[in-house]
Amino acid sequence: MRSWSIPAGRLFGVDVRLHLTCFLLPIFLYWTEYSANNHNASGARNLALTGLILVCVAAHECGHILASRRFGLVPKAVILLPLTGVTLYDEPRAEKLPAGAWWRREIRLALVGPLVNLALACFAAVVISAVAPGIELGKLPLVLARNLPRSLVGANLYLAILNLMPAYPMDGGRILRAVFSRTIDQSSATRRAVSISNAIAMVLMIAGLFSNSWLTMVGVVVFSAAQLEERALLFQSVLDNVSLEEVMLTDFATLSPADTLEDALDKAVHCLQDDFPVIRGSDMVGVISKQRILDALRSEGNGYVQAVMNKIFEVSVRHDSLGSAFRKLSARHSSIIPVVEDQRLVGIVTLQNLMHSMALLAESRKLRREEAE
Ligand SMILES: [Zn+2]
Repeated sequence: MRSWSIPAGRLFGVDVRLHLTCFLLPIFLYWTEYSANNHNASGARNLALTGLILVCVAAHECGHILASRRFGLVPKAVILLPLTGVTLYDEPRAEKLPAGAWWRREIRLALVGPLVNLALACFAAVVISAVAPGIELGKLPLVLARNLPRSLVGANLYLAILNLMPAYPMDGGRILRAVFSRTIDQSSATRRAVSISNAIAMVLMIAGLFSNSWLTMVGVVVFSAAQLEERALLFQSVLDNVSLEEVMLTDFATLSPADTLEDALDKAVHCLQDDFPVIRGSDMVGVISKQRILDALRSEGNGYVQAVMNKIFEVSVRHDSLGSAFRKLSARHSSIIPVVEDQRLVGIVTLQNLMHSMALLAESRKLRREEAE
C-alpha cells in the first residue's frame, strides 16, 4: 500500500506520505516558466511554489481528515500527490450503513476538501488586497513562480475546481460514485466511476501534448490517484472477505515449555519459522518468537522456554477474517495468532505469513477479475 510514496510527517495524528509524482512538480513548474519566459526561470522560486501547492493540498486533506472523524471514520494515512490527495482508511468505508445514509455521507465528505481550498482562496485574497493592494490577483496566469501571493489565491482556486472534476478518486468522482450507488451496488458504482476516470485521464494526457501541458500533468495525477485508490480497495476486500482458514499455516513446528532455549533456537534454524506456539500435552500454554529466544539467550544464558514465553495471547477461529487477525496482532504487538477449534490448535497465522499471503491473494483476485472482464 505504501508503494511509490515516502513518509512526510503527521497531520492530526494521521501519517502523511508524499507520492513520488510530487517530485515531478518542481521540474514541471520550472520547465513551464522556462519555456514561457524566454528561457529564464528561477529554481528557488519554483521550489517555493511547489511547497506552496503541496501545503494547499495538505490543507485540503486536513478538511477530509477532520470531516471523516466527525463521521466516525478512522483515517490511517494520507498520500499527497501534486494536485490532490488520497486518504486511506483502516476500517472499510462501506460498512453496514444504510445505502441512503452512505451516499449522503460520501457527498458531504467529498465536498469538504474543495470548500477548504475555496475558503483559503477567499481569505488569502482579502488579506493580500488589504496588505498589498498593488498585487493584481485576477491577472493571468493565476499561478506563477514570480508572484507567490497571487499563486496562493490561484492555486487554491484551481485545486477546488480540479478536485471537483468527475474523475474518481478526485472529490467530484466520489460524488459521481455516490450518485451511481443510489441505483447500483457500491462495487459496480466504483468500477463505473473508475472507468470514467481512466477515460478522462487519457483524454487529458493526450490533449495536453497538443495544447497546455498542465492538462497532461492533471491526467498523470488523476491516473496515479486512481491506481492508489484501486489498490487500497483491493487490499480492503482481501482483509474483509478472506478467512484465516484460507491462509493459516497447518504444517508448523511447536515448542514445549520444558524445551531449553538452545533446543528451541535449533528448531527455529531448521524450520524457518519466526514464531512458535508452546504446547503442553494438548493445551496451548504460550507463544514465543525467535527474537525473544535470541534476546533471552544473550542476556540470561540458556534457560527454559517456560520462563520467557508470552503467556497472554489472542486466539482466533477458522472463520475469523484477515482484518480481525491484523487488528488482534497490532493490539497486542504480537506476531503470531494460534487458530483453535474445540480448544485444539489447528493452525497458526503469523505476521510473516500474513504479509506473504496478502500479496498473493491480492494478485490472484486481480487476475481473476481481469479474466472475468
Ligand atoms: Zn479531496
